[in-house]
Amino acid sequence: MAILKCVDCMFEEYSKTQLVVRLLLWFVPFTAVGLYFEQLPWALLVATWLLMFWHYRHLNRLANWLWHDRSLTPPHGSGSWEPIFNGIYRLQGKNRRRRAQLARMLSRFREGAEALPDATLVLSAEGEIQWSNKLAQHLLGVHWPKDSGNRIHNLLRHPQFISYWHKREFSEPLELHSPVNDARILEIRVMAYGDSQRLLIARDITRVRQLEEMRRDFVANVSHELKTPLTVLQGYVEIMQMTAEPGSMIAKQYDAMDEQSQRMKNLIDRLLVLSRIESATDIDLKHRVDMAEIFQRIRLEAEELSAGQHQLRFDIDAHLQVFGDEMQLHSACANLVQNAIRYSQAGTEVTVRWALVHGKPTFSVDDSGEGISAEHIPRLTERFYRVDRARSRNTGGSGLGLAIVKHALSHHNSQLQIRSVLGQGSRFWFELPTSLHAPQSA
Ligand code: ADP
Repeated sequence: MAILKCVDCMFEEYSKTQLVVRLLLWFVPFTAVGLYFEQLPWALLVATWLLMFWHYRHLNRLANWLWHDRSLTPPHGSGSWEPIFNGIYRLQGKNRRRRAQLARMLSRFREGAEALPDATLVLSAEGEIQWSNKLAQHLLGVHWPKDSGNRIHNLLRHPQFISYWHKREFSEPLELHSPVNDARILEIRVMAYGDSQRLLIARDITRVRQLEEMRRDFVANVSHELKTPLTVLQGYVEIMQMTAEPGSMIAKQYDAMDEQSQRMKNLIDRLLVLSRIESATDIDLKHRVDMAEIFQRIRLEAEELSAGQHQLRFDIDAHLQVFGDEMQLHSACANLVQNAIRYSQAGTEVTVRWALVHGKPTFSVDDSGEGISAEHIPRLTERFYRVDRARSRNTGGSGLGLAIVKHALSHHNSQLQIRSVLGQGSRFWFELPTSLHAPQSA
């Protein structure tokens, strides 16, 4: 490198002084001869012609080398042409090395992308296919290099994909059925890549979805299967309770059996609700829901649960209706209200609000109960996650309530928000998107 730099400065030197020296050395003898014979203009003209002829020959050699000969070594140049030939030769060498380096990098990238277990496409900002790996052929039906330059939305014609691509909002992946095989489910991710290119990665998640479905079906089936024998057992326990002498030891044992079987029934019912909500993928978001009627029911349930121990305030906009699934919206709101009552001491206030806030139908429930410390909040919507197991059991909890809320809300493109201070109380709330606000019918 240092040597190359040094050669550079040599050329620099040459171009500035040597050129002038050579020019003078050429013209001085002609000037002398011209003066001697008193024919200076002619002598200078001859010198200029000869010099031009000499330069023209070198120019011709250079053009011939660049356009026709194309050999690696440059033609032999003399005088001021020598460093020019050498300089071009050096530049060509540099370019060749750079090209080889780029080709190596490109082939390494391609090998890496071929080794990926996902279909990979490199796209231009407009969606033209610039490169794809082999798996893209099996999963997306993209044939490389035949489809080079084709726009991706001409190949993936799913309306969902087209609107996903045009929205340019790629923070969330998109799930699609493969255009090659409808039984395959793909997870599509698009990432910014290079200057303005995009990298599209499609992963086959059919197996994951199948396993999820199997798990959901298993839970639903087990819950159903458990329900029948449990109802029979409950029936016998009730009969035994009636025959036992009130206050006797055996009557207390029957009461405990009844209580436990009731808890079990509760748990099974909740598991069934959760799996029903979870598996309801296509919910009708055009169905108008009378929220005022739902809150009437919730109020009655809440009063029964509280048994007059809490001050319940319902601040409900009775005219605010939404589009959605009635059962799921009822479940979400009821669970949050019941939790507020169950985790608040007697005498405290629980406030339920349903109103339009900044154009969004918003539900909130505030309590001044025991509150939750910050480290538990992100995990509350996990199934069976409870801050205090014993406490939850005593209040009749199953650990499934907030998981139900989370799934019900996700079907309505909404999310549960939680703010809580340990020992002071909590606020659970959610906003439904403006698109689900159902304007009052005339
Ligand atoms: P559970 O059936 O146990 O109430 P949930 O899923 O409804 O299950 O709630 C999970 C946990 O979140 C509860 O065990 C409880 O610790 C906590 N929690 C929920 N709501 C409240 C609330 N309003 N105040 C305090 N803690 C709460």
